[in-house]
Amino acid sequence: MSRDFYEILGVSKNASQEEIKRAYRKLAQKHHPDRNKEDKSAETKFKEINAAYEVLSDKKKRDTYDQFGESAFSGGGGGGGGQGFPGGFDFGNLGGFGGGFADIFETFFGGETSSKKRQSQAQAGDDREISINITFEEAAFGTEKEIKAARIGECDVCKGKGAAVGSRILACPACNGSGEIRTVRNTILGSVTTRRVCDACSGSGRVPEKTCGNCHGVGRMRIAEKLRVKIPAGISDGSTIRLVEKGDSGLRGGPSGDFYVHITVLLHKLFQRKGADVFSEQEIYLPQAVLGDEMDIQTIHGPVKMRIPAGTQSSKIFRLKNYGVAKLKGEGKGDHFVTIKVKVPEKLSKKEEELYQQLAKEAGLKINPEKGFFKKFM
Ligand SMILES: [Zn+2]
Ligand SMILES: [Zn+2]
Repeated sequence: MSRDFYEILGVSKNASQEEIKRAYRKLAQKHHPDRNKEDKSAETKFKEINAAYEVLSDKKKRDTYDQFGESAFSGGGGGGGGQGFPGGFDFGNLGGFGGGFADIFETFFGGETSSKKRQSQAQAGDDREISINITFEEAAFGTEKEIKAARIGECDVCKGKGAAVGSRILACPACNGSGEIRTVRNTILGSVTTRRVCDACSGSGRVPEKTCGNCHGVGRMRIAEKLRVKIPAGISDGSTIRLVEKGDSGLRGGPSGDFYVHITVLLHKLFQRKGADVFSEQEIYLPQAVLGDEMDIQTIHGPVKMRIPAGTQSSKIFRLKNYGVAKLKGEGKGDHFVTIKVKVPEKLSKKEEELYQQLAKEAGLKINPEKGFFKKFM
């Protein structure tokens, strides 16, 4: 069986262009040879991924592929109806031969396989990330932030082409426009041609007569850009917002990476949060707990009148329905929970002390209060 391009990218046969792009970007980043210097197989994998993307990202090529399979793309460079790889050939089973075999294979079959062209094709840009802090209220109600994004973007003078404005595009002199450099070496299998991508033109086979002065012909450059991030109401601490294709620009038409914004929600001095619910504590005086009262409770939506029933115990929790944070998923808001802390007075006036003594007597308590002498040593 031939290698299946859909399988290589891990997408289904009816995947959308967007899904294909996303899958490609993820894989290309993971297997990029620069990131896997130790791992030789990564390069092979990377080429495979690029080859698959080259075909599946192009509507026309994809249709052809769906109809005829890979043989429509590999081998038979002359266009004379070449079958490419013989049926049933599977690159993946070559095992020990490694990359070198592919070169020999090419030479034997004389085909212009796409493997070398693949390298000259689109390459996805890297993702970028940044961490930002937002306040409790910003997280609760949503906000919009402007971030300074340092990234590699397209050169705005040459629009990523690397050519000076008005410059002619010529065949690359280093490779005579073929995009690859060939070397012939003699082995026990006979004379073997190896090819590598031309550095001068990155495999495109074409170079501008005059390079763009702004980016020195690279087509991309470091840019500092301001990005606006919409932060939805109800976002949680530790969330990440993805700005699609706001990362580094791709190379040779490849898709841009994404920009990830990691959110840290700062602590609030009154409120805590768990999901859409908000928690706070409320101190009340002993008489309020005993006799009951009505009081203002601070919520994120402002003060709310709440009834404290007579006989409220310390640590009792009351719920203020719908006074929490907007729910990220679904409708409505969470609740606000107030934990009551009954405050025991630490200093009493003479009169208060008398009253508490009376209360104790009334309750039938024989109490042994500290006297002035001991108090001093506390
Ligand atoms: Zn430029
Ligand atoms: Zn070249």
